[in-house]
Amino acid sequence: MRGDRNPCRPPHRERPSVPRYDQVDPRPSVDIRKDYPVVSADLKSADVAIVGGGIVGCATALAARRHGLSVALLERGRICGEASSAAGGLICAQYDADHDAPLFRLRVDGRDAFPEFAQLLEELSGQSIGFSSGPTIGLARTHQQRQQLLARVTWQRQAGLDAQFLEPEEARRREPLLPPDLTGAAVYPDGQVDTQRWPPIVHRALLAAGVRVHQGTDVTAVAAGPNPTVQTVRGALHADRIVLATGAWLPHLRPGVPIVPSRGHMLAFDAPHLKLGHILHLPGGSLAQRSHGRIVFGATKERVGFDRRLRAGAVREMLNRALATLPALADCPLASIWTGFRPEPTDGLPLIGRDPRSGCYLATGHHTHGITMSWHTGQLIARLLTNHPPAYPLHPFTPTRLTT
Ligand SMILES: Cc1cc2nc3c(=O)[nH]c(=O)nc-3n(C[C@H](O)[C@H](O)[C@H](O)COP(=O)(O)OP(=O)(O)OC[C@H]3O[C@@H](n4cnc5c(N)ncnc54)[C@H](O)[C@@H]3O)c2cc1C
Repeated sequence: MRGDRNPCRPPHRERPSVPRYDQVDPRPSVDIRKDYPVVSADLKSADVAIVGGGIVGCATALAARRHGLSVALLERGRICGEASSAAGGLICAQYDADHDAPLFRLRVDGRDAFPEFAQLLEELSGQSIGFSSGPTIGLARTHQQRQQLLARVTWQRQAGLDAQFLEPEEARRREPLLPPDLTGAAVYPDGQVDTQRWPPIVHRALLAAGVRVHQGTDVTAVAAGPNPTVQTVRGALHADRIVLATGAWLPHLRPGVPIVPSRGHMLAFDAPHLKLGHILHLPGGSLAQRSHGRIVFGATKERVGFDRRLRAGAVREMLNRALATLPALADCPLASIWTGFRPEPTDGLPLIGRDPRSGCYLATGHHTHGITMSWHTGQLIARLLTNHPPAYPLHPFTPTRLTT
């Protein structure tokens, strides 16, 4: 291993206390443009080069540092500047799962691993990432949806998971803002993180862990084999192993992978006077309130390539859905609308593991749950990079499926 200082835990810092809704400035607490240069130090060789500074690449970088590897992270824009800050930030696994499957288990384990990641990011950065864990509520508004929720809760309980069905009165008692026409609800143990404010915090955590972060560094080509090299617009970098974590853009560096961009629209309302105690999952979207009172709602799923523009019809549909669930939102300022691109695998499964064709490790394709599965994925890849057997049955997700 090349001799970087070991990332073993930095000195413990007190966790910032959780602020009250009305005490927080909604703007991010660090301004990335002021605090960090876009381009960092010269490119130097490393044990591992990670291409893509979304949350999956960042989690992989931190996990690899924990294993004592030197890491260079190459991001063409800014850390977590794409899907990873466009996301709703729900750390959720169970609300839409109708049967057991490897991907469902990866999500559940990802959700359960996430609090450790949140703590690590906060300890390294000294700042809160706005993570909170707590129950979420899935809502049914028709008889058919009620039956579906009941069946979901039944199989998940039989599988040993925490899930509870609520009659409408009980659901409204727990969450008074819910509409009167509910037919049932289900409660699951989940969480959320404020992804809109975490890019500078994740960046700070990476630097504190000794990751060499190169923002503004577009990778143009990779070559694994005996002399693994990453070609960038700023020159070449040599690394023993290369990880591609470029999200929806993976096919640009590794043609032929079944990944396409899935555009999602998000809305945010300024609603500090409303008190939403749970994340709400409705058919066609989820609502969550951040600690500073803002309520976010998302998201659409559209295959339109990399078109970032807002679609009027999508915004109208989302507003209709959000206001039908929480009518009080109609009087709130609409604070912001944005889009982002999920990495959607057309065969339904993420890519986690070594790709025999390119010789690189792939870590992408987490589609709607990439925040939830980020730390778990980073840890799995770090084990592979250090020749440890995966602590998990990874075969459904391995890139070898692309060659068969
Ligand atoms: C609207 C929306 C809502 C979502 N809500 C949730 C949610 O509530 N919960 C959840 O778990 N997930 C959610 N997701 C999904 C989640 O955001 C993604 O699955 C996750 O962020 C993917 O992370 P990533 O690191 O793979 O990709 P990204 O965050 O997109 O990162 C990839 C990075 O690679 C960089 N890159 C690409 N090509 C190159 C190159 N050639 N050289 C250098 N860098 C390159 C990009 O600039 C980018 O920063 C949502 C997504 C969207 C869009």
